[in-house]
Amino acid sequence: MQYNPCMLGSVISGVSAAAVVTAGYQSMAPTAQWYGQTFTGLPHSSRQIALTYDDGPNDPHTLRLLEVLARHGVRATFFLIGRYVQQHPEIVHEIIQAGHVVGNHTSTHPLLTFKNEIAIRQELSECRSALQDAIGEHSSLFRPPFGGRRPAVLRIARELGMSPVMWNVTGYDWNAPPAPEIERKITKQIRGGDVILLHDGGHKHMGADRSQTLIATDHLIARYKPEGYKFVTIPQMMGKTDSFTP
Ligand SMILES: [Zn+2]
Repeated sequence: MQYNPCMLGSVISGVSAAAVVTAGYQSMAPTAQWYGQTFTGLPHSSRQIALTYDDGPNDPHTLRLLEVLARHGVRATFFLIGRYVQQHPEIVHEIIQAGHVVGNHTSTHPLLTFKNEIAIRQELSECRSALQDAIGEHSSLFRPPFGGRRPAVLRIARELGMSPVMWNVTGYDWNAPPAPEIERKITKQIRGGDVILLHDGGHKHMGADRSQTLIATDHLIARYKPEGYKFVTIPQMMGKTDSFTP
């Protein structure tokens, strides 16, 4: 579903168009904090970078990505869709076995901005149960689909024991552009202390081709590691020592 600021207009009446646009921006912009605090990275003086991958587990691209990361000795954070976790728990096992961190990305990947609280809670709880069934633990990290949020989304995530995690560098790899394009967009945004949004899966269907994201990942690590950047998981970046449950 594509986000359209005009959708808010039909919900909110009696406020100015500018306020509606601002409200829409604040509910979707990855680093905006108006609707509640979310983790978006560290100050730019940091030499840490966190690679994050959304919309998996995805057969076969997640396992191929694990190979790329293993080659570089890098650990990343995966925000998983619950219904895919149920389909491929063995891939989630592999992610954990390799020392990466998993996060909750809802059960079916809806835009939560306009969902009622019961539906929000259900989406988060179902993904949590899927993770529990697959690996015996749930995650304490949550990322809203499309970055869409409002105070209720963040509050419910916290009530379920999860910290909301956004990002500050966007890979724009949704539609699988060529790897050099993904790399160019990311390198333009990197300042240090960054949380990079990429995708190892696709929310519309299992099997989305992420080969370009894999190539871009390979090149980005090869470029930034020699410059002294350290690739870390989100809990590591948050300063939490436990690699799985921050
Ligand atoms: Zn997503």
